[in-house]
Amino acid sequence: MTDTVDHRLRSAWTPRGAAAADVTPKVLRWLAERIGTPGASASVVPDAALEVPSSSLPRRTRAGLAAVVGAEHVLVDPAERLGRCGGLSYLDLLRRRRPELGLTVPDAVVLPADPDQVQRVLDVCVEGDIGVVPFGGGTSVVGGVTALRGDKEAVIVLDLARLDRLVSLDPDSRVAVLQAGVRGPEAERMLGDRGFTLGHVPQSFERATIGGFAATRSAGQASSGYGRFEDMVVGVRLATPRGEWRLGVAPASAAGPDLRQLAVGSEGTLGVLTEVAVRVRPAPAAERYEAFALDGWQRGTSAVRELAQRGLLADVTRLSDPDETDSSLALAGGWKTALLRRYLRGRGIGEPCLLVLGWHGASAREIARRRRAAIRVLRPEGAVALGAAVGEAWRRGRFAGPRQRDALLDLGVCVETLETATYWSRLDELRDRVRAALRDSLDHPLVLCHVSHAYETGASLYFTVLAVRDEADPAGQWERAKRAASEAIADGSLGTITHHHAVGTDHAPYLRAEIGDLGADVLAAARRAVDPTGILNPGKLV
Ligand SMILES: Cc1cc2nc3c(=O)[nH]c(=O)nc-3n(C[C@H](O)[C@H](O)[C@H](O)COP(=O)(O)OP(=O)(O)OC[C@H]3O[C@@H](n4cnc5c(N)ncnc54)[C@H](O)[C@@H]3O)c2cc1C
Repeated sequence: MTDTVDHRLRSAWTPRGAAAADVTPKVLRWLAERIGTPGASASVVPDAALEVPSSSLPRRTRAGLAAVVGAEHVLVDPAERLGRCGGLSYLDLLRRRRPELGLTVPDAVVLPADPDQVQRVLDVCVEGDIGVVPFGGGTSVVGGVTALRGDKEAVIVLDLARLDRLVSLDPDSRVAVLQAGVRGPEAERMLGDRGFTLGHVPQSFERATIGGFAATRSAGQASSGYGRFEDMVVGVRLATPRGEWRLGVAPASAAGPDLRQLAVGSEGTLGVLTEVAVRVRPAPAAERYEAFALDGWQRGTSAVRELAQRGLLADVTRLSDPDETDSSLALAGGWKTALLRRYLRGRGIGEPCLLVLGWHGASAREIARRRRAAIRVLRPEGAVALGAAVGEAWRRGRFAGPRQRDALLDLGVCVETLETATYWSRLDELRDRVRAALRDSLDHPLVLCHVSHAYETGASLYFTVLAVRDEADPAGQWERAKRAASEAIADGSLGTITHHHAVGTDHAPYLRAEIGDLGADVLAAARRAVDPTGILNPGKLV
């Protein structure tokens, strides 16, 4: 990650200026054996070749916005609007290769400088009845930042990139206040300078923002150690169409329902987060990553459950199913992998499941103590230690997936991820049903799965799906598969429709089944209370 990357690039995950991923002929051959050979490659259509509708922002509103943020921060030229015309899901990226599928381009991009300007931008938009899409890193994979108009004449994207400051740090309380537009690496850099860490590192870390993490209830790779993002939030400052709303005066409170938790996860529908107060921790002095192999999914999940229920989870705990493990080994390739496979067979591991554990701590000694306790739990499950090199290899490569996805997309592969969570007693059934739904709805797909967030009561499941793209109907192909998987998840409330990607537009049809009609009414009532004319993020959540 460098300061020169251009985060507006919507056609790929890989930011402009960063190295593109290479898909080697060996990987392509391996993939072709599993899913078939892609028919056609499709490159990104350059901005200049796209038809961008002219802005419908009324002149009066534009002048009002310019009076608040300065004319240079009200952007209406096509490149800037295309730069914020959606998130980074497979369908978003596909549209940049097949623009006939339809791009949803906002009428303007507005960049306020501080919380006060955000509030005044909303005031102008209320007066003009203009839709507002809060935009952090734009990494939503569920349609959360699609510039839908709803019943509005025009819609702006409210880009929070200029709200990029560490507002305060209270080292005694271990509370930091960060502005909403601070990206993951900057947050860690600013806190790290003062000896602290947030410890929130999702795979979208490079681009995603503090406001986005809070608005989507994000979960980072080290969620077992540092918690989910909502566990870190102690206070919020929101701009709403009805005025400013601040929440969070104490670490815990019995003063009625916790309204901070209404703001967290509200996906831009209940206000624009301008500042988030978060719990921080001393930066770890030591880290250790290590891998183990378990024989089969049942042994693997049983080991992770034991660790979770005995309070011995490593900060990063990630279990791949046999298919995902097989893919990782195949892609690593080389004589070392062949040796590893032989070694595992010799140790009686017929169907290896890779378990990566990562500990962060104040000292190597502290980590050694936690590691020993974890190994005492893993041993009876038949875990075979693979050493630090395999764990380190995972750590080094943990941000590579999205870059590889860009390259595979260009080569004609349909590649997407989806996630859910449930209680331990239903985890196997949920995995079986989602895998069956994906396999039945796609032609020869490769379906990989892992657990990367574990709790005492259950765990998340994260699926990666690869198939040869159906060039005749590429969007329909994925929409059908996603629908089948979502129905399998929602059927009988087997799992949640989303563990950390949020609702956006894509999961909205399934939310009511999960929270009930009354739940949907409560959310709608909250929305009416803060945003009576419905300007905030039209078409999202409910
Ligand atoms: C390659 C890739 C990997 C990912 N990995 C993970 C992962 O490991 N864990 C995970 O949890 N998620 C992951 N995601 C999903 C996504 O990164 C998260 O949802 C992230 O929290 C979004 O942050 P953002 O700043 O990009 O928000 P955006 O995408 O800009 O916005 C997301 C939603 O929040 C709203 N929003 C944004 N900022 C504000 C604000 N200040 N106030 C109010 N509403 C706001 C938007 O309107 C939208 O509805 C991944 C996505 C990609 C593309």
